[in-house]
Amino acid sequence: MSSNGNAKHVKVLILGSGPTGYSAALYAARAELQPVVLTGMQLGGQAALTYTIENYPGFPDGVGGPQLGELFQKQAEHFGALTEFASANSVDLSQRPFKVDSDSGEYLADALIVGTGASPNHLQIPGEVELTGRGVSYCATCDGWFFKDKKVVVVGGGDSALEEGLFITRYASSVTIVHRRDEFRASPILQNRAREHPKINFILETVVTEVIGTEKVTAVKLKNVKTLEETTYETDGVFIFIGHTPNTQMFKGQLEMSELGYIKVNDRMETNVPGVFAAGEAADPHFRQVVTSAGMGAAAAIQATRFLEAMEAPAEKV
Ligand code: NAP
Repeated sequence: MSSNGNAKHVKVLILGSGPTGYSAALYAARAELQPVVLTGMQLGGQAALTYTIENYPGFPDGVGGPQLGELFQKQAEHFGALTEFASANSVDLSQRPFKVDSDSGEYLADALIVGTGASPNHLQIPGEVELTGRGVSYCATCDGWFFKDKKVVVVGGGDSALEEGLFITRYASSVTIVHRRDEFRASPILQNRAREHPKINFILETVVTEVIGTEKVTAVKLKNVKTLEETTYETDGVFIFIGHTPNTQMFKGQLEMSELGYIKVNDRMETNVPGVFAAGEAADPHFRQVVTSAGMGAAAAIQATRFLEAMEAPAEKV
């Protein structure tokens, strides 16, 4: 890293500290590019909010999300990656080096790897915002403990809802999974575990239309999507797992994206701007697994290395 006025000039700047960011950092560091990782708000990304990860190869007994995140970071730093505890606020990709304005000042980057991941979606119903942190949560690992011997509602029918619902049974006296259809998109193994769990029950073909409470959550309003019947269901907590939105707003107008905001990349993780690569959930609407994000991060760094080599090569070799 060198200084250019107040800006810090780096060869490879990586946005995001999840499996994508630190896998990219590991590969870029081993290519001796001294990558800098801007962590973003959540060190370790979404994986670090998961209690146990059972499908990352190499850990037959599972591994804690925070623990895996620390291992990723340690391994990348061992080879020379630098971690900056800061978020990027805006980018200028109109010319190289790319400009990135962050909480820790301005960076100039010869190559940029976007691994900014995704954030949980909100239901956007009355009471949700007001009661967030007072019974409404998007993270079972963070908040499950507060619901010891309490009744909890989990919203959603994907892997997150069932996996996190199962996790909350460690604390809660009962977990009610409210899902808008009568079929789940969660994997069969999680569906079976949830169905067999004595603390879990299901309310299907139903949506939550309001979170009720003043100081804290006391109930939710439910609506059956078939009969349109409305009921009030008493609960102490509402955990919402209804999918994610990619954290790519900062790149709008500069990087090509899908309608849903996923950055468009080719099979080499290249975006429409040469020298800018994107990987993991910021660019992947299909797989969104720790292992696929890590793989894409590594691929982005390999391609960034090739890009920088080609830029530095004598003209006839480029
Ligand atoms: P997801 O697979 O997109 O599922 C979202 C769920 O929320 C769906 O059941 C959806 O219902 C429901 N939903 C969406 N909008 C809703 C709304 N406005 N009101 C009510 N319900 C709504 O999201 P995810 O569960 O967070 O999983 C994301 C990705 O991470 C997936 O690829 C998943 O496989 C992966 N993941 C994997 C693991 C694991 O392997 N252990 C763990 C967690 C996540 P519909 O089904 O009706 O659309």
